[in-house]
Amino acid sequence: MRRFTVVLLVLFALSFTVSFLHAADADAVTVLKGARIIDGTGNPPIENGVIVIKGNQIAAIGPAAKIKTPKGAQVIDVSGKTIMPGLISAHSHLGVMLKGVQRADAYTRENVMDSLNQYEQYGVTSMMSLGVNRDLIYDIREEQRAGKLGGATVFPADRGFGVPNALPPFKLAPDQMYRPATPEEARKLVREAAARHPAFLKIWVDDGFGQFKKMDPAVYKAVIDEGHKHKLKVAAHVFYLADAKQLVADNVDVLAHSIRDLPVDQELISAMKAKGTWYIPTLSVDQSFFYFADNANWRQNQFLNAALSPEVKAIFNDPDYKAKTDANPIVAKCRAALAQAMKNYKTLNDAGVKLGFGTDSGAAPPSRIPGWSEHNELGLMVATGMTPLRAITIATGETAKLIGIKDRGTLQKGKRADLVVLAANPLDNIGNTKTLLVIYHDGRKITPRASAPAVAQSLPLPGADAVALFSAAVAVGPIEDVCE
Ligand SMILES: [Zn+2]
Repeated sequence: MRRFTVVLLVLFALSFTVSFLHAADADAVTVLKGARIIDGTGNPPIENGVIVIKGNQIAAIGPAAKIKTPKGAQVIDVSGKTIMPGLISAHSHLGVMLKGVQRADAYTRENVMDSLNQYEQYGVTSMMSLGVNRDLIYDIREEQRAGKLGGATVFPADRGFGVPNALPPFKLAPDQMYRPATPEEARKLVREAAARHPAFLKIWVDDGFGQFKKMDPAVYKAVIDEGHKHKLKVAAHVFYLADAKQLVADNVDVLAHSIRDLPVDQELISAMKAKGTWYIPTLSVDQSFFYFADNANWRQNQFLNAALSPEVKAIFNDPDYKAKTDANPIVAKCRAALAQAMKNYKTLNDAGVKLGFGTDSGAAPPSRIPGWSEHNELGLMVATGMTPLRAITIATGETAKLIGIKDRGTLQKGKRADLVVLAANPLDNIGNTKTLLVIYHDGRKITPRASAPAVAQSLPLPGADAVALFSAAVAVGPIEDVCE
């Protein structure tokens, strides 16, 4: 009997150790002292600030003069450093790519966890996997909620709703995508998805360069309406202005890519503002088609290289990669699409439309690099004439609002301790978000996968001129959809 008790106690102790391996010690108190704090609300930074972390939460935050150091706390001097919230991507993907190839068997627990760990190690502490999720994602979500599993916190948008024999043209597992043919079938499948309590729903409204049949508006209207009945918000893959207008009229909650065929107009802006529709530009999507061909110096970029598998490096190192990319007529259109996307982004930001953050990282082709893409996207956002403070606010506090997660996104008392400590100030140059020193996620200390050297203060951005300059490099005309 006694032996049995001892065995039970040992088992209990072991399970305790295993269970809490990925949870912060609830009583541990850490004080980060002396940093500049960007809190994710859009307010100006707090200079010489203090953050008190207790367990997985922020117990206190403010200027050093106003915050007391609790007795027994571990105090870390971070004078001269900058702290900002962990990044949140509301449009990324898991389990689409494996070793640089898009394949139907890529969505495994191991591959998904590799990506979630990579996001976390680049300071992306939460991510919404915006569609093509197999059901195993819900086990991962439960284990993360229980503190048994690490990696970026995942918010799954379930399988997603595509079109039979059309978009998305991915090779997918049977439990990875719905393709309803009728509004009735769409409603039934939304109810099936709702039973899994996803964070969001996703629809694809696009014709892939005129190659495919677009989703019947009656089908997407049914998904949106039935989703809302189950208190689920709906994000749409979109490319064309006309589709965006119809989706907004049909109450879609998020346009999850840029409009890239035409300039956005007042009709769309007024409708989005009236309905409170969010817009995620994913500028990195269009750039991903030519980034590695244009930037031969990616080989010297250690911050980027640390995110690439040997198989992905081999693809970009292929002697023919650049010539093939440059000769591809689709790539020329993606350059034009990026220019149009950047112009539209500036217009929508100036107009006060609600903007969220996302990159499509993790999707095909292999140039959409989890973790690195998010830092790259911030640079593209600032290149449209936005301030670094605005870009950081969108990528943290605003995107938490978009997803509907109130416990994170800003550095405020009672919120989760999801933050990054940077060697250099990203308000001087947005490239400094890459100067990662340490990451806290749910109060757990995470060692960055890589860290870039500080970059000098940049000149004030010329605003609209920056976009014009960028656009001048490409011919912008009506753009057919190729860049998804
Ligand atoms: Zn996507």
